Amino acid sequence: MHFVIAPPAMPRLPVEGDDRLFPVRRVYCVGRNYAAHSREMGNDPDREEPFFFIKPRDCVVLDGAEIPYPPMTSDLHHEIELVVAIGREGADIAPEAAPDHIFGYAVGIDLTRRDLQAEAKALRRPWDTAKGCDGAAPCSRVRAAADIGHPSRGRIWLAVNGEQRQSGDLSELIWSVMDLTAKLSRYFLLMPGDLIFTGTPSGVGPLSRGDKVTGGVEGVAEISVEIV
Ligand code: MN
Repeated sequence: MHFVIAPPAMPRLPVEGDDRLFPVRRVYCVGRNYAAHSREMGNDPDREEPFFFIKPRDCVVLDGAEIPYPPMTSDLHHEIELVVAIGREGADIAPEAAPDHIFGYAVGIDLTRRDLQAEAKALRRPWDTAKGCDGAAPCSRVRAAADIGHPSRGRIWLAVNGEQRQSGDLSELIWSVMDLTAKLSRYFLLMPGDLIFTGTPSGVGPLSRGDKVTGGVEGVAEISVEIV
């Protein structure tokens, strides 16, 4: 049997030092996971359990991508994030067991139509149109945990046209990578190919056409995209 239309391509990420690819199954994201960013968005970071949302997996675009400025917004924001790449299936994972389920790490940018998100928050509507625009999940190559370990500290940063906008450290994560993986696995059966965007440090802000966006996590990877 053939498909009636061509099946969509599976998004995939290159793996550093390996000619095999990491296939992307789902893209999970966590909200407000650095205290300073939580405060800049008007929330109290001390009282919140982590909460999750999902981007369509075809939002993933590669390092070096030219990303069209999305329609229906005049306030596209950057959020630099450490990304966890799940390598082994698991539900109800204990934090201590989480490393066994993690293939590696990457650096991503959670692009957000902030005006649509603000409207969704005010009207108690879903975030999908704010978080799921085409090209909304640029992601670097994946680094295997077998090569770099499981980073719990290290600078995370983003610059626009060479000017620093975001800067933080992984040690400032409110919920650690292992805590997040464990908590997310209570809601969903995590599967190989899942990505988890782990939240952004403070300094989020608007992007314009022509902006060159660079960012990275010390010891993991860097990423560079252009908004066109
Ligand atoms: Mn985010």
